[in-house]
Amino acid sequence: MEERLLEIKDLHVEYVTDEARVFAVNGLDLTVNRGETVGLVGETGAGKTTTALSVMRLLPDLVGRITRGSIILDGIDITRATEADMRLIRGEAVSMIFQDPMTSLNPVMTIGEQIAEVLHLHEKYDTKEEVEHRVDEILRLVGLPPERKGEYPHQFSGGMKQRVVIAIALACEPKLLLADEPTTALDVTIQAQVLQMVRELKEKLNTAMLLITHDLGVVAQTCDRVGIMYAGEIVELGTAEQIFQKDERHHPYTVGLFGSIPDLTRKTRRLSPIEGLMPDPTDLPPGCRFHTRCPHRMPVCEVESPRPSYNGGHLIRCHIWDDRRCSQ
Ligand code: SF4
Repeated sequence: MEERLLEIKDLHVEYVTDEARVFAVNGLDLTVNRGETVGLVGETGAGKTTTALSVMRLLPDLVGRITRGSIILDGIDITRATEADMRLIRGEAVSMIFQDPMTSLNPVMTIGEQIAEVLHLHEKYDTKEEVEHRVDEILRLVGLPPERKGEYPHQFSGGMKQRVVIAIALACEPKLLLADEPTTALDVTIQAQVLQMVRELKEKLNTAMLLITHDLGVVAQTCDRVGIMYAGEIVELGTAEQIFQKDERHHPYTVGLFGSIPDLTRKTRRLSPIEGLMPDPTDLPPGCRFHTRCPHRMPVCEVESPRPSYNGGHLIRCHIWDDRRCSQ
């Protein structure tokens, strides 16, 4: 039976500044089981990174705050944990790979020191020799020669730096890995290598992963389940097969996302992008958040927020597919 590792319920996150109140995540529900890979897909500003930062409790101080909901990770409610608890949870229960390896590493510490720092923090090993041995082991695991552990980040290429970031994230073998666009800053050939390595390591260590991306190709190769995010909500969630199956029911936003990528099986002169822009998160529209761009909108969409409807494990939040409203 699948064992639940992460359970996010009704999560609301806001950023408050002197000028504005930004509603970044608005009632998000999501689960990740042990060993499972779940993809979170959506445009920039959909709330994907904010969701991951909430799980790490790394929202910017004084500005970002969780206003409602719970995040249960391995039985612990992250929203109620103290900062001292979080220092132990980060790295050991959950780790994050950030988008840009150039800014994730400390330029004045060798890569070996940066990996060892995580091990010291979690008091994983008693002696210096044991720590050094583990650093060598992790470097080998991510395909880097241990002899280079005395070198600094600027001495490595972009792909190698991202391997170091992954090594730091996996040093304590966390149960959950949050990967926020882990290959966006890399060129295409290196992207494929890094993704392949993350998949292999995940299998080896039975780590669950929440993969944040806007690349549907990466999702197809990597994820068991996929959540499509729009304006801080999950509008569709299902297995990768359900999301990628053309003749399944889909949310109009998902249809729009797939319509805006090239289809090699069809001859088309132009791609069909989704018209318009994501709504201003300081002033979200009432009803369905997607109604300002939706080609199928109905009068009800402008006033009433759609409830999630389920078909097996496949969730869609749209009035068209709400069987309580209209039977198919
Ligand atoms: Fe479009 Fe209405 Fe469905 Fe929203 S609820 S996606 S506006 S049809």
